[in-house]
Amino acid sequence: MSTLISPVTGTALQDVRLASAAEADAAIEAAHAAFPAWRAVSPGDRARLLRRFAAVVDEHLEELAQLEVRNAGHTVGNARWEAGNVRDVLNYFSGSPERLSGRQIPVAGGLDVTFYEPLGVVGVIVPWNFPMPIAGWGFAPALAAGNTVVLKPAEVTPLTAIRLGELALEAGLPEGVFTVIPGKGSVVGQRFVGHPAVRKICFTGSTAVGKQIMAGAADQLKRVTLELGGKSANIVFDDVDLEAAAAAAPGAAFDNAGQDCCARSRVLVQASVYERFLGHLETAVSAIAVRDPADATSDMGPLISSGQLAAVRRYSDAADIAVRGSVPTDDPLSSGFWHPPMVALPRSPRDPVWTEEIFGPVLSVLPFTDEADAIRLANDTEYGLSGSIFTRDVGRALRVARAVEAGNLSVNSHSSVRYWTPFGGFKQSGIGRELGPDAPHSFTDVKNVFLSSE
Ligand code: NAP
Ligand code: MG
Repeated sequence: MSTLISPVTGTALQDVRLASAAEADAAIEAAHAAFPAWRAVSPGDRARLLRRFAAVVDEHLEELAQLEVRNAGHTVGNARWEAGNVRDVLNYFSGSPERLSGRQIPVAGGLDVTFYEPLGVVGVIVPWNFPMPIAGWGFAPALAAGNTVVLKPAEVTPLTAIRLGELALEAGLPEGVFTVIPGKGSVVGQRFVGHPAVRKICFTGSTAVGKQIMAGAADQLKRVTLELGGKSANIVFDDVDLEAAAAAAPGAAFDNAGQDCCARSRVLVQASVYERFLGHLETAVSAIAVRDPADATSDMGPLISSGQLAAVRRYSDAADIAVRGSVPTDDPLSSGFWHPPMVALPRSPRDPVWTEEIFGPVLSVLPFTDEADAIRLANDTEYGLSGSIFTRDVGRALRVARAVEAGNLSVNSHSSVRYWTPFGGFKQSGIGRELGPDAPHSFTDVKNVFLSSE
């Protein structure tokens, strides 16, 4: 058993039963047994089942959103978007079963064709920061490509995943095709790594655990997709509408209370406008409404846990803080896991507040001199997930976008992840890509077949 704690009030919410290693093995074996029949479902029928799953998610959108507000402390606006994202991702990948075409390649003496064969059982391991979307980004394309899926939610945020597992059955997905297994990473997650029937692991979480999973998966040459940490740069040149750029910066760093692998938590501002930018930034940060996430006017809720709050405080207590927002002080919210939004001024580019992923509402600002300096500072990190570039100079936007070592960049925008475009990291932010038109391919192996005309 594990007792879930409300991030909003710090009090017990409910108990959830955690699976043992033996129960995880039984679920993996049931998924393995369900695989031959699922891969044999005709493409049109598999597509129809996924569309029905999407429709059932849509019917339960408000229920799922409210569960996430309670369990994860997400603002209700975000939580509705997240449930809608599961629906949209299912609808998008429901278009792929009939389109997962191989190729016909010219050869002498016969016919050569390729097939995208499903792998078997796919294990999806989900973190606590975006329980619904990250689950959907794994299970929807994996199911569409003909795999069965076992999914382990984070120990602290299992409620929406458990409900999605029930909704899949309600939509008519056969038993064993999509199974949610609440449990510990060290127990259930480790069985995904160790059990030979799991042919691929799709993991999102910390870089440290991602490396362990990759090392463990090597033993069976198990496929992996890893979406790990980030410390992304928001580069602001001096030719932009400075007030607008400063107004947009907090949203890009403090969404989900900064518990976002894409958070643009390193703001690089051209030295000529640095002081003015900081002035506008202070105005923008002071306007953030940090309040009960169930309140529709809330911009930012609490952190996920007391442990995460302590981890973030270790950074903010040690840093030079230039701007400090507010947190609720009234009961019962005062005992929740709240951290104010903050702007830190690093002492150098080696300051931990500048180099390490904080996963909380603390952004840092440093000045740069010119384009080359901005690129050098932006790339001075082992991470490479996302980033933003603000400039009105088209040539510079292109040069910088090509030079920044990150998988997802936006120009004059802090665009969030779109399910129909590829998403993933450079360097130690990950391996492989999720979402976009090619995602189902990463849940298959290519088979080449030659048929002789003799
Ligand atoms: P984590 O430890 O990497 O956990 C992510 C998922 O992996 C959870 O479901 C976790 O299960 C599971 N897991 C943990 N150890 C495992 C193991 N040995 N084998 C298999 N699965 C395992 O991340 P966290 O502890 O929740 O967060 C720590 C830091 O990771 C954050 O502060 C942040 O820097 C980073 N993070 C990044 C992302 C991202 O989107 N890139 C998301 C979350 C966290 P349990 O919940 O049971 O531990
Ligand atoms: Mg952990």
